[in-house]
Amino acid sequence: MVDPVRSRERMVREQIEARGVADPAVLDALRSLPRHLFVEEAFACKAYSDGPLPIGEGQTISQPYIVARMSELLEVKPGMTVLEIGTGSGYQAAVLAHMGADVYTVERIRKLFFTARKRFTDMRLFSIKLKLDDGTMGWPEHAPYDRIIVTAGGPEVPEPLIGQLADPGRMVIPVGESRRLQRLVLVEKIDGHITHSDHGGVAFVDLVGQYGW
Ligand code: SAH
Repeated sequence: MVDPVRSRERMVREQIEARGVADPAVLDALRSLPRHLFVEEAFACKAYSDGPLPIGEGQTISQPYIVARMSELLEVKPGMTVLEIGTGSGYQAAVLAHMGADVYTVERIRKLFFTARKRFTDMRLFSIKLKLDDGTMGWPEHAPYDRIIVTAGGPEVPEPLIGQLADPGRMVIPVGESRRLQRLVLVEKIDGHITHSDHGGVAFVDLVGQYGW
């Protein structure tokens, strides 16, 4: 494939900065992380293209722009504790870890869980902790979380996740009444009050579980 460093530079310039993402920590993470190592070898040459890619089991690694946009909306600062639901390839978790967060990530599909776990070990990403479970129930043992990010789309904001969000806290989650077509929702908790704001249309794979589909 073409030089990954140059591919990343170009990806950040044309897909991320050009569309208005400006958080230096997000740009730095996307410039630094070897996205081509988060996809199956056959897709490595497409890793820096402007879209999602299959990662097996009917799941996808999100489009680079969506990863960047969600990471920026979260406003992650070094030292924060972040819960991610939907580990998938592990790329989004790696971006959050690169931004300095302690990341807890939950995946429900066994094969993807083990692949991501090996990837994190190989890349020496030791600040990421993984669990094989239904992430709509959260991960109560390490709560509260300063930030929560859900990278699969469900019909509602799972109640347990609202409970496990710190105060103040921010959660970014795709929510939709129909499958594969959601609104990107920012949930903020401030002084015990919960507010929701809409950040546009997105298309994620299904969030499957007790509080999912
Ligand atoms: N963040 C991932 C995106 C993966 S796609 C990345 O960077 O590659 C979404 C993932 O969410 C899929 O792997 C799917 O299996 C997983 N998922 C769906 N419902 C889930 C649930 N209830 N708990 C945990 N993971 C779930």
